[in-house]
Amino acid sequence: MEQPLVKNAFDVLEVRKDFPILSELPYGKPLVYFDNAATSQKPQVVIDALVNYYTHYNANVHRGVHFLSQKASDAFDGVREKVRGFINAASEREIIFVRGTTEGVNLVAATYGRKNIQQGDTILVSAMEHHSNIVPWQLLCEEKGARLNVIPMNDRGELVLDTLDELLNDNCKFVSITHTANSLGTINPLETVIAKAHERNIPVLVDGAQAVAHEYVDVQALDCDFFVFSAHKMLGPTGIGAVYGKLHLLEDMPPYHGGGEMIKSVSFKGTTWNDVPYKFEAGTPNIADVIAMGAAIDYWNSIDRVGAHEQEIELLNYCTSLLADIPAVRIIGTAKNKAAVISFVVDKVNAMDIGMFLDTKGIAVRTGQHCAEPVMDWFGIPGTIRASFMFYNTKEEIDFFIEQLKKAIQLLAV
Ligand code: PLP
Repeated sequence: MEQPLVKNAFDVLEVRKDFPILSELPYGKPLVYFDNAATSQKPQVVIDALVNYYTHYNANVHRGVHFLSQKASDAFDGVREKVRGFINAASEREIIFVRGTTEGVNLVAATYGRKNIQQGDTILVSAMEHHSNIVPWQLLCEEKGARLNVIPMNDRGELVLDTLDELLNDNCKFVSITHTANSLGTINPLETVIAKAHERNIPVLVDGAQAVAHEYVDVQALDCDFFVFSAHKMLGPTGIGAVYGKLHLLEDMPPYHGGGEMIKSVSFKGTTWNDVPYKFEAGTPNIADVIAMGAAIDYWNSIDRVGAHEQEIELLNYCTSLLADIPAVRIIGTAKNKAAVISFVVDKVNAMDIGMFLDTKGIAVRTGQHCAEPVMDWFGIPGTIRASFMFYNTKEEIDFFIEQLKKAIQLLAV
């Protein structure tokens, strides 16, 4: 029998109840939170997981035979499998806990990079990277006498792949590229870049900071060699994230930090390393935040992700069309394939002034360079105003935002 078609059953008002902060009243006004690309808000279950750990079973992991330590160890260890499932890695041994995307890129640069990049080599990034996917490679290049090359973009903020074959030449030894650009919203054609790099045996790291909360990520389907992300952008806590790496690459990489946990045996004659992934996790881990990251993944698995995605795309299209009707507004980043991020500038008004005006109305947007100074330089602008949405945002919030933006323009245009 044919199933009845259920149109997007995603109930945004119901979902909003899961996020206590959305009831806050900054300056006595309902919060309109459009700064999700900087960090997402947290559902109550994530906050509860943190409080619960500290209240009921705070203990160090892997070191105690006592009840609390075993309970903490079980909760902590269980999250590696949740992260594996969340990005569809082949094995939980391929998951390394780090502080976030920034530390993840630095880990790969300092281990894989230090071992494999030599003088005269090139590392390829794109024109739309966040600083955290540029600077670690620049540091490595400086140390090794290597060079950073850049895949260019066009004026819609889309990668131009005409020169990719040339850039992936014999000198190129690594590609590090963002999945989704935080400053523009562009979703990159990773399959093409990865396939072309692999034709030449060049490994690819994907910066997934902006992708994990908005796309289904399947690292095996992508066939990327490394994938890094932060929990705080996907409903989890700050200070925690993960590096995925293909097992054979991780096995071959030297350790990152030295200390406890990352060793098998230590003596003054010499030390042997622990197995992957522990080899990369020196010291007491961020136990509470790992457990809360697991709660965030449980939350994702409990909601209608297709409906959540559709909600975001609806918000993106709705807001884009309303902004396009304001003559003073110019949207920066008009790629065909975009996530729910809208960067824009306003004629004759400073972005920061708009942001400050909107703030007085309870609307949180981000202004400035968004840690992507080369992107701003490319567009010849000092910065943008960025509204970035999550599935818990509403069209009514966008209506209010547009109304207040128009007022700001009227008031502030010189
Ligand atoms: N990469 C991208 C695309 C980002 O948007 C961000 C944060 O905004 C980062 C990397 C850095 O993430 P974190 O600060 O969590 O390490």
